[in-house]
Amino acid sequence: MLVELQELDTRLAQLSHRFATLPEHKKISEVRGEEEKLEEQLDEIMIELKVLRQSQIDREAEVQGLEDKIAKSTSALYGGAITSPKDATAMQSEIESISRRQAILEDQIIELMEQIEPFALEEAEIEAQRRVGGEKLHHLEEQLAVAQAEIEVEQLAASTERAQIEERAGNDLVALYERNRTRMGDHTAVGRLVGTSCGACFLGISAVEIDRIRRLPSNEPSECPECGALLIR
Ligand SMILES: [Zn+2]
Repeated sequence: MLVELQELDTRLAQLSHRFATLPEHKKISEVRGEEEKLEEQLDEIMIELKVLRQSQIDREAEVQGLEDKIAKSTSALYGGAITSPKDATAMQSEIESISRRQAILEDQIIELMEQIEPFALEEAEIEAQRRVGGEKLHHLEEQLAVAQAEIEVEQLAASTERAQIEERAGNDLVALYERNRTRMGDHTAVGRLVGTSCGACFLGISAVEIDRIRRLPSNEPSECPECGALLIR
């Protein structure tokens, strides 16, 4: 019974260890790390893009204003509202000056669009990588949940079996076992008597001690005189 308890405790410890060190944990934190890096890259790109796009919007608004002005002046010029040739010449040169400003702005807008393009491509690339990463993460989390559930089933089975053995062993023996286990650890709390050696510490036990141990009633636990392990006869 004690050997069974010991085996189950070892098994439970292994299951807890497996639960905590499932390979999915490492993979998930790797994917999360990659995701953080991508987010940082994206933040930097978005700062650049924001400035460039705002410049483009400002210039486009200015161009729109200039176009309205030109349209208004042109219709005044050819609509017959201006009769004096002097005024007409002045307005003509104003329209030309506005047009020059418009051409400069339009060149700048083209330049800005050329600057925006590689950033926008990079943004799209990072977004695509993030989507792939997100799917990977989702998949890994599902795998982790499945693996954890499998371990939990095994843990429950081992715990149930352990409770049954404890009940059969009785409180005194269990208390003795628990005390030894705390003191010596799962693997050496119980030892099988192999010939005249202790199965926990592998030391030989003197003939006198062996004789004393063998005379004990079978339900009375005995301890190894060398390491204190509970000896199974
Ligand atoms: Zn021993």
